[in-house]
Amino acid sequence: MSDTNHCVSKKLAKQPGVAVFVLEDLSSIRTQRRGKKMNKWLGSWAFFQQEQFLAYKAEALGKKVVHQDPRYTSQKCNVCKHIKRTNRHKSKFHCSNCGYQTHADLNASRNVRDDYILSSTHGTEEQGSVNTPYVSGNSVS
Ligand SMILES: [Zn+2]
Repeated sequence: MSDTNHCVSKKLAKQPGVAVFVLEDLSSIRTQRRGKKMNKWLGSWAFFQQEQFLAYKAEALGKKVVHQDPRYTSQKCNVCKHIKRTNRHKSKFHCSNCGYQTHADLNASRNVRDDYILSSTHGTEEQGSVNTPYVSGNSVS
């Protein structure tokens, strides 16, 4: 497991164009509805180690690792921001408001990223370094 974690975290840390890694705040992670398998993995030693590896490899490359409150990120639609518990069906996300469909973890991780950007007070420098460009203010479609 350590070898795998080293390998995966190295690849993640080296992702070109990514300067900030936004991770879910672990203290509230088990309160999310994610299914038994995912909760077990998130609460495991292996996951904790993965975070540690990513943090020091990313920091060695001059990148940053931050933690973000994951509240509602698994229920919120990343497209229209509609929050409803039933939007999530196990690994699938299907927005009852706009009809957007994707993998539930992908939708949730995009929400974690966007929540961090919205709550960030570090200025525009970091916003530009996020993998997918973010359009701020009222111009979000
Ligand atoms: Zn939606």
